[in-house]
Amino acid sequence: MGINGTQMTMSIENVVIVGSGPAGYTAAIYAARANLQPLLVTGFQSGGIPGGQLMTTTHVENFPGFPDGVMGPELMDLMKAQALRWGTKLFEADVELIDLQRRPFRLKAAGSLIESHALIIATGASANRLGLPSEERFWGRGISACAICDGATPQFRQEDLAVIGGGDSACEEAVYLTKYGSHVHLLVRSKSFRASAAMVERVMANTLITVHWRTEVLDVEGDEWLSRLKIRSLDSKEEQNISVKGLFYAIGHTPNSKLLAGKLNLDSKGYIRTKEGRPETSIEGVFAAGDVADSEWRQGITAAASGCKAALAAERWLGENKLEKLIQRKDLEPAKAIMPQSFRATPEKDFKHDALWQSGSYALRKLYHESDRPLLVIYTSINCGPCHVLKPQLRRVIEEYEGKVLAIEIDIEIDQEIAEQANVNGTPMVHLFKNKELIKQWKGVKQRADFKKIIDDFL
Ligand code: NDP
Repeated sequence: MGINGTQMTMSIENVVIVGSGPAGYTAAIYAARANLQPLLVTGFQSGGIPGGQLMTTTHVENFPGFPDGVMGPELMDLMKAQALRWGTKLFEADVELIDLQRRPFRLKAAGSLIESHALIIATGASANRLGLPSEERFWGRGISACAICDGATPQFRQEDLAVIGGGDSACEEAVYLTKYGSHVHLLVRSKSFRASAAMVERVMANTLITVHWRTEVLDVEGDEWLSRLKIRSLDSKEEQNISVKGLFYAIGHTPNSKLLAGKLNLDSKGYIRTKEGRPETSIEGVFAAGDVADSEWRQGITAAASGCKAALAAERWLGENKLEKLIQRKDLEPAKAIMPQSFRATPEKDFKHDALWQSGSYALRKLYHESDRPLLVIYTSINCGPCHVLKPQLRRVIEEYEGKVLAIEIDIEIDQEIAEQANVNGTPMVHLFKNKELIKQWKGVKQRADFKKIIDDFL
């Protein structure tokens, strides 16, 4: 047994990578190709979702190799598939404790104790909140930190919306939301944007966006759903109410380094301090990569590059200290990567009463009216990164019940009417039905155990 009654893993890892953004997956690709068989702990709910910030971004147009751009979640799916292809072991859990005082280092995650000679910290950064007086009340009822996940929901369609922030995220989200809302108010506290010139041009050219300079939000108001913002000019101090049905936060990030406070050298804002331009931290054998160690550049490509450096440095350090245990590959060339499939509604001719996972309105109607088995309805939207994370989790849950529970996926953009009837106010959202009765609903990414507990009770 390990610390606090945790289960020890069998062997000491060469290198454990914590975090699954571009930095984590790039480190994994390099370490796996160096035959170190890295273990990557993806993170799950703390510090954002697996895949990191690109999972809640739309078009990534500046990542080399994609001349026409690539969707953020798709880019992360590709990186994950590449890391897996070369033999990275994935552990989908949040790290709860890191002990750097003894060697091998120890980590606690989801009841397991992991030991590793080297560590790569790539935990990224999390979206900030404003802390408005009524923020909690309207969180998920009009306030969102992810326009890309929630923008397509019925409540925001053809309504006035607001975005707060003046960086690339705020500009990107404001432009994105004009696809759904009737008008977007962009609330900027400074006199100018912090965003890149190309992004600023898109905002300024969009007649559906009004920029409010030097403006702050004082609070939000409404009944069941957000309906007004109280804003104030930072210059004249004049207050006014604006009617909006959505407020989207894009006000920057905080590094996910809480687990390391007092254990590694951090700067005043919590970013991990590394050697100038290098991945080495204040403790030998611990390397840092990506946004958790980068308060300045914070790009997908810089995170990926630093993940590469961290893996190469870890490989060198393990070698110099004669700690690495290399795996022998059976085949020189690994099998081709397995890519996730995109949404496709189940056509009438393919519908089956006992298929575990089907999609679209036809399958939903059939099972809702005709099946007596519990039914999980999973509401997704095409660009929603958290949906990419949740779907494989739910597929595993459904497979474990071997046909006792069935699943239907509904794309809320394709089946808007169904989403409206079901009161879907963001994606991913999951409803559990039995004999047409709604038993339980979940919003956002949840652990498999959260679903199984309810389903078990119910079966
Ligand atoms: P940034 O830190 O760049 O910008 C945060 C913005 O929020 C700033 O305008 C800041 O104002 C404002 N802000 C912070 N706190 C508050 C507050 N309490 N109230 C009001 N406003 C506040 O964060 P981003 O998420 O926009 O970008 C992070 C990184 O990701 C950047 O490097 C960016 O370039 C990159 N990115 C790139 C994209 C792309 O290329 N497609 C898309 C999205 C992000 P102020 O300026 O006054 O400090």
